[in-house]
Amino acid sequence: RTVPGELKWAASPSEGGWEEVSIMDEKNIPIRTYQVCNVLEPNQNNWLRTDWIPRSGAQRVYVEVKFTLRDCNSLPGVTGTCKETFNLYYHESNEDRESYIKESSFIKVDTVAADESFTQVDVGDRIMKLNTEVRDVKVTTRKGFYLAFQDVGACIALVSVRVFYKTCPLTIRNLATFPDTITGADTSSLVEVRGSCVNQSEEREEPKMYCGADGEWLVPIGGCFCSPGYEEKGGACKACSAGFYKAKSSDAGCFKCPPHSHSVRDGATVCDCHSGFFRADSDPPSMACTQPPSAPQQLISVVNETSVVLEWAPPRRLGGRSDTNYPRMGSGSISSSQLCLPCGSDVLFSPGQTGLKTSRVVVSELRAHTHYTFIVHARNGVSQASGAGAAQSVSVSVTTNQAVSSILAIDVTRHSLSLSWQQPDRPNGVILEYEVKFYEKDQKERSYRIMRTFSRSVDVTGLNPLTVYVFHVRARTAAGYGEFSAPFEFSTNSDPFPLIGEGVNSAFLLLSVSGVGILLLISAAVFIISRRYTHINAPTQTRVKIYVDPFTYEDPDQAIHEFAKEIDVSSIHIEKVIGMGEFGEVCSGRLRVQGKREIYVAIKSLKAGYSDKQRRDFLSEASIMGQFDHPNIIRLEGVVTRCKPLMIITEYMENGSLDAFLRKHDGQFTVIQLVGMLRGIASGMKYLSDMSYVHRDLAARNILVNSNLVCKVSDFGLSRVLEDDPEAAYTTRVRRKIPIRWTAPEAITYRKFTTASDVWSYGIVMWEVVSYGERPYWDMNNQDVIKAIEEGYRLPAPMDCPVVLHQLMLDCWERERAERPTFSQILNMLDKLIRNPGTLQVCVSVLPEVCVPEWSVCEWLQSIGLERYRDTLAAAGYTSLDSLLMDRLGIITPSHQNILIASVQQEVLSQMQHMQHSMVPV
Ligand code: AMP
Repeated sequence: RTVPGELKWAASPSEGGWEEVSIMDEKNIPIRTYQVCNVLEPNQNNWLRTDWIPRSGAQRVYVEVKFTLRDCNSLPGVTGTCKETFNLYYHESNEDRESYIKESSFIKVDTVAADESFTQVDVGDRIMKLNTEVRDVKVTTRKGFYLAFQDVGACIALVSVRVFYKTCPLTIRNLATFPDTITGADTSSLVEVRGSCVNQSEEREEPKMYCGADGEWLVPIGGCFCSPGYEEKGGACKACSAGFYKAKSSDAGCFKCPPHSHSVRDGATVCDCHSGFFRADSDPPSMACTQPPSAPQQLISVVNETSVVLEWAPPRRLGGRSDTNYPRMGSGSISSSQLCLPCGSDVLFSPGQTGLKTSRVVVSELRAHTHYTFIVHARNGVSQASGAGAAQSVSVSVTTNQAVSSILAIDVTRHSLSLSWQQPDRPNGVILEYEVKFYEKDQKERSYRIMRTFSRSVDVTGLNPLTVYVFHVRARTAAGYGEFSAPFEFSTNSDPFPLIGEGVNSAFLLLSVSGVGILLLISAAVFIISRRYTHINAPTQTRVKIYVDPFTYEDPDQAIHEFAKEIDVSSIHIEKVIGMGEFGEVCSGRLRVQGKREIYVAIKSLKAGYSDKQRRDFLSEASIMGQFDHPNIIRLEGVVTRCKPLMIITEYMENGSLDAFLRKHDGQFTVIQLVGMLRGIASGMKYLSDMSYVHRDLAARNILVNSNLVCKVSDFGLSRVLEDDPEAAYTTRVRRKIPIRWTAPEAITYRKFTTASDVWSYGIVMWEVVSYGERPYWDMNNQDVIKAIEEGYRLPAPMDCPVVLHQLMLDCWERERAERPTFSQILNMLDKLIRNPGTLQVCVSVLPEVCVPEWSVCEWLQSIGLERYRDTLAAAGYTSLDSLLMDRLGIITPSHQNILIASVQQEVLSQMQHMQHSMVPV
């Protein structure tokens, strides 16, 4: 329609076929048409080809043809030659000016027939019956195409040919823009199109849509959100106005600023806090701005020994928040210095030290007698942002104390009470003494008495019968006295003095005239009598647990896992080497097991390149130790067997082995302290003997000492015991090594190792302890020692040794093992001595220069009130101390004589005592 001149489409044949004809349309506007009407002639084949049509990216083009067609029936005489259709063809080509195209190069699109009634076209009457037919065709291979119309004998006029393609038009869906998109090549094809977010928006999910073949958009997926500070209005994103904000792109729209905040510019993503108000990092922008809390109020503390309960009231002003907590507490200082130190990690805070939500905390495991300052800070989420510090805290200072937790009455008589107590759990140093305060209950504290003692027991005498007394005990360390314990009430008896049995009473009467020395003999005699007595009458002990020899297990690993806990090596932190064991280094370090406090430990490791036997022997010690649970037996924490090196972890004993410890502190302990150590060892040995375990190598070097002077038996193991000990030597009679000086004769001679042979060794340990680590039998050689023992020689009392202790040693060294006391009896004896420290004060062993320089036996006997034995000794040929020494003991080295001469009295006394035995009816 728009072409003003001729179209000049190519027609074939150029004459007599399609003709270009100008006509007027219904509106009387001239239009160009192509016409052909050879209905009377047969075999028509008239082609009309359009100009080249560029494809312009289209893949499917639509051809709309408007035409008129004559009804053959309306034409007379055309039967057989007249047709009522024409054919539409196309040919794709990159050439825009092809002059000749073969008919066979065209591809048929369709045969087109008229769908209108077309009996007559009377252009003269301006009546045209116009048909409109649309066909589509895929054109994808070349830049453009030609269309062709083939007439095969119809009477036809082409009025209009419109060629077009379809697009899905530019659109915005879900805040994403989709461009104008040409539809796909096939009628069923969908073109996937990715949208792009509109200005000030960001992708929520990749925006996608499909362009359908008919130019319709289908299936929108994903889309965009308006960016923070913007909201959707009419498919676009518009900035939030002042006083409003939008924090997140996903928020539905702009919100009004929350309380105590504002926004002055458009497009705010968050509102600024008014001055004096804050927002914590974790606060959402929708939350009102808040303030830090004021200080906690009314902090009160209640000290209970080494624990403090702190309570406070919440701050008056919480600042509009609900997250007030008490973030950090505590600093402590020892009262004797002014330096404040943070509380150590061993202090326990319950429910915790930081971030407390409650207003109560219990602080425990503090040091006794120590000044602590506790600072309670109230904080909330904006404390840090506000920079507020001290203004929000309140503090309290307390001084811890520590009392003895309970007092036991062991012996009660008409006029006396024997009391004992446990050492406070966590003293702030070595306990120097205990102070016992007591008064008659009726008298209240109007008049009280004080007693001081080094031991954890005391005998309170001179009391009134049938009277209730109130007792408090407190401990003293270098830092001073702790608090008194809570009151404990005990009543004296109404019965007459019942303590000593009949036989002993006779002994008492018999000997009481003989002075102080004899009194001591009585104590010893009482012990021996009671020992024999109990020996006969003691009920058989029920053994709860019997020790299992790990070597009875075929698989050593089974034993170790039965008795020892496997420790994860990552929880062990090794610090330094503290010693050398048979299998490798011994180190100290720390162990932190989950859910437990960190503790100091000793770590024994098995050095690389060990044999199977060595591994077994190494682990056997742990298998044995793991079966024991006693305060005087070294405690096994566990083993590491799953990785190398293998390790045995035990509790750490700060003062190392007892022999070295005593040598280092020569003469520095009171007798009571020494007896306390011996008591601990005896208690541990009693436990072992109750479990039927024979130690075989009990010696001071195998006792370990902790910081509280608690002694614990260590060095377990079977084969290694005697092989490993440097003191162990081969004897002529046995093949195995034996620590001769510590071993009972029957064990040396025929390897009879029993609890009774352990008792012998215990006697040697007693001697080592009282002599502060002196070597038993000094530098005598092993053979001489064996010989001397066989001949009845026994170690003399060390310097300053109470006679009762030496007597106890001698009892342990009875030749007949059945005559030796049991550990239970030894323990009872030591407990009695501790309760009656008076019995330990008298010492018969005095240096000769001081006391008995050149005395005759006679003079000496006189001095101790025993001259009636003069004749007995004289008859035996002992007239001088020297002769007694030389003859009786065979000591000829002058230095040994000097040491031993002081003990001669003891020796004689013990002879006296044996004589006394026969006089005492048992
Ligand atoms: P042992 O192999 O048991 O004789 O240990 C060798 C040395 O390491 C001992 O003499 C002690 O000095 C030291 N030692 C062993 N176990 C401990 C422990 N639990 N605490 C402190 N020191 C220890």
